[in-house]
Amino acid sequence: MLSEPTLSDPVEIACLDLEGVLVPEIWINVAQKTGIDALLATTRDIPDYDVLMTQRLRILDEHGLKIGDVQEVIDSLGPLDGALDFLEWLKSEFQVVILSDTFYEFAKPLMRQLGYPTLFCHRLGITADGRIEAYHLRMPDQKREAVKRFHELKFKVIAAGDSYNDTSMLGEADRGILFCPPQNVIAEFPQFPVAMDYAQLKAEFLEGRAAVRR
Ligand SMILES: [Mg+2]
Repeated sequence: MLSEPTLSDPVEIACLDLEGVLVPEIWINVAQKTGIDALLATTRDIPDYDVLMTQRLRILDEHGLKIGDVQEVIDSLGPLDGALDFLEWLKSEFQVVILSDTFYEFAKPLMRQLGYPTLFCHRLGITADGRIEAYHLRMPDQKREAVKRFHELKFKVIAAGDSYNDTSMLGEADRGILFCPPQNVIAEFPQFPVAMDYAQLKAEFLEGRAAVRR
């Protein structure tokens, strides 16, 4: 007969946001590196994500930028300082899944630089000649939904992210951690501990594991 996993053999999953935690903000850096200021708009400027993404794809098109051009820019960003060492450490202590609202086609060059960790994110629609014509979200609030599914599989989840789009994931997790968040997110979500560098983030993951095992 199958038995429930017991605390003598726990396996926790570490869920990590990507942008702002392991790599720079992709759209902001693409805007800066290409000099296209209109790409600096974020959900703070245009709260409707569909309107924002449709505008971003139209701007890329207007500048004749194809997926290969954008990937080249993204490849030049590289991971944040210390991110690779942190991720290697995290993988030695937890099963690691990156939950991101980016797109596989954008993340590809960064995944290579991060040693191809497991990534759950969205997809772009690319034409045969490399034009980005559409985007496809996996499902609404996929970060939180993934944590729910891990719970159904009897895993405990410790999650870390830097911004608003992570807070439902952090709330769903057994332990949620904010990493280098903006001040307004700290103020609005005082229930989550805050780590301001990778040493603190390591300590929070270890503390989180100790807490979920208690
Ligand atoms: Mg982020």
